[in-house]
Amino acid sequence: MGPRHATHTRQASCRAEGKLKEGYEMRAFELYDANSIKEAIDLLRANAAKNARVVAGGSDLVGGLMKDWVHGKGLALPEVLVDITTIKELVGINEDNGGLTIGAATTLSDVIDHKTVSSKFSLLSNAALSVASPLIRNFGTIGGNINQRPRCWFFRGEDFNCYKKGGDFCYAVTGDNRYHAIIGGELCYIVHPSDTATALMALNASAKIDGVNGSKTVSFDEYFTGPRVDVLRENILKPGEFMTHITIPNPPGGVKFGW
Ligand SMILES: Cc1cc2nc3c(=O)[nH]c(=O)nc-3n(C[C@H](O)[C@H](O)[C@H](O)COP(=O)(O)OP(=O)(O)OC[C@H]3O[C@@H](n4cnc5c(N)ncnc54)[C@H](O)[C@@H]3O)c2cc1C
Ligand code: SF4
Repeated sequence: MGPRHATHTRQASCRAEGKLKEGYEMRAFELYDANSIKEAIDLLRANAAKNARVVAGGSDLVGGLMKDWVHGKGLALPEVLVDITTIKELVGINEDNGGLTIGAATTLSDVIDHKTVSSKFSLLSNAALSVASPLIRNFGTIGGNINQRPRCWFFRGEDFNCYKKGGDFCYAVTGDNRYHAIIGGELCYIVHPSDTATALMALNASAKIDGVNGSKTVSFDEYFTGPRVDVLRENILKPGEFMTHITIPNPPGGVKFGW
């Protein structure tokens, strides 16, 4: 299967209008639609040398990190993206007697609009409702929200080669460190940016992971990792792995939520 397209249209139109400065173009990339989990894994494996990554709505990966050239020695820009929103089994919400299973490529709007989520798991629907704007919630997915990269302004700024990009300094220690962590930091002081992750952790959710190393299910407690484990990432996912589903057990009777 060939890539869907290999260059970014804005780049082409800006170049035509003479608005792009040399070195500020968005890097071209190949985009593949995966039709199954297996196909996504095969694509990630085949394109590992090109730093292949899964993409869902693309609001953070394409619209943020790649557009703004957020990269460094420990953070290479991907040359290949594998779209997982084209995998049917990753989209949608299923209920059974034990609770809910949410496909990682389900949009935040679909999570918010789901009757059982809002009646039984209102913590999650309120958390999802607090994310960004209706436009972003309409195409941003729950998996992308949980796995988005940190919002630290030094990390997002191209002139700051900090620890999280493989550099040798944390600019937040001496710089503007509003909205950073007070406890649990070491080398890096980010706070995790995902609203839904906080709610899912409180709901005792688990993440199903698939990838080049096989599949496994881990609790959200074990999914996220701090900078002491590896400053270059925020969770246990290794290259070639991605989240396929989130499962949430029924809350015990009498539980009340507040967001
Ligand atoms: C203006 C703005 C305001 C925002 N405000 C908030 C806010 O208030 N609260 C909040 O929580 N978020 C906020 N966000 C972040 C937003 O929620 C995320 O951009 C969005 O949810 C990401 O979803 P996506 O599907 O577009 O992810 P993508 O951009 O496609 O992916 C994001 C990252 O996750 C990875 N990824 C995607 N899916 C998976 C998966 N299934 N398994 C493993 N990795 C995966 C990608 O490789 C990428 O690194 C904001 C974003 C913007 C642009
Ligand atoms: S807090 Fe983390 S992401 Fe921000 S500058 Fe320091 S090392 Fe980089």
